[in-house]
Order: sequence, then structure tokens, then C-alpha cells
Amino acid sequence: KFIVIEGPDGAGKTTQSKLLSQFLHSKGIKYLYTREPGGTKTGDKIRDILLNPESKISNMAECLLYASARAQLVNEIIQPALNEGTWVIADRYLHSSIVYQGMGLDLGIDIVEDINKIATTGLMPDVTFLIDLDTNTSLGRINRSKDRIESRGEVYFRKVREGYLNLAEKYGMIKIDGNKSVEEISLELIKNIPLK
Ligand code: C5P
Ligand code: MG
Repeated sequence: KFIVIEGPDGAGKTTQSKLLSQFLHSKGIKYLYTREPGGTKTGDKIRDILLNPESKISNMAECLLYASARAQLVNEIIQPALNEGTWVIADRYLHSSIVYQGMGLDLGIDIVEDINKIATTGLMPDVTFLIDLDTNTSLGRINRSKDRIESRGEVYFRKVREGYLNLAEKYGMIKIDGNKSVEEISLELIKNIPLK
């Protein structure tokens, strides 16, 4: 099974991915955890370029770099794992690109969807969670040493949050309130994991 955890910065995706990993482990399920951008040697180099505040990157180049990192991750890690029956928990997937680059940077949903359909060879998750969080709380949780994206500011992140909410239905995302406690969120995730 392929499980994706999405949401704005600071929503707790990484924490929840770890708790979900522990749950799968306790059930004796073999799994892999991936995070984006990155997760492969090449992807991590792309991540450095993308997040470095000194990089000069056009909006389309940014979109294509995220898609490149994702293409490598699918080819090198995710698809081979799924092929041998290993579960994959992905901390972000193409939904992030639709929202951050498609809506946040106004590249448009359709074009970002097309690019990512190609990049991922059409591989889609079995379950996608959206940990929703209001932008004020989200910005409050962001690290003080901001990366290139995190320094974009409030207007951008409001678009991102709204973008996720608008995308949720189309992509069948299971929405969870990111203001709930870590334990409560984890239970909601686990409740929706297709164990059979
Ligand atoms: O999830 P994490 O905080 O590790 O993401 C790293 C950065 O990449 C964040 O600042 C996030 O906003 C950004 N990002 C992005 N577009 C994507 C995926 C992530 O701007 N498609
Ligand atoms: Mg972050």
C-alpha cells in the first residue's frame, strides 16, 4: 500500500509519518518512509538547490525540479518497494506540487498535474491524508532559520492552505484537523489505514 501524508508547513506530517511507521512495524508490516523533496541521493541534491535561499530559480524551473526529484524517488524507491509488497509512507507527494507551484506560484493546476503525471508514470497513492492547519499557526511553527520557500511569507502560505482545501475532494484526501493533539491525529490516521 502507498500512503501519502500532505499538508502545509508545520502541520506535523513528519511526526505523524513516524508514528504511522511505528504502527505498521507493530503490525509486522514491512514499510519504507520517504520525504520530499529528496529521499534519494539525486533528490537530496535537488532539495539543496530548491531550498537554498541563494538559488535563483524561475517558477517553472522550480516546478520541474520538484518533479525531477519526485521522478527519481518513484523510479528508485517507491515503485520497487511497492512491487515487492513493501508499504510506502510518503511525507508529501505530487499534491504538494499542485498546491505550492500550481496554486501558490500560479503556474496553474492543469500544467502541474500534467508534468507530475509524466514524472510519476501515473503512480497514485492508495490513501492520502491532508493534515489541515490554519496559516497563522503554521507560520508560528515554521523554523526561524527560513529556507527559500519558507521565506515567501503569509500571502503565499494562505494560498497554499486554501489550495489544499480546494484540492481535497478531487484527490479523495482524508482531512484531519492539525490543531488536534499528536495522539488524536495519529489515531485518526491509523483508523483510516486499509489493513486488508
Ligand atoms: O515538508 P518539508 O518542510 O520538509 O518541505 C520542505 C520545503 O519544501 C517546505 O518549505 C515546503 O514548503 C517546500 N515545498 C514546496 N513545494 C513542494 C514541496 C515542498 O515549496 N512541491
Ligand atoms: Mg518545512
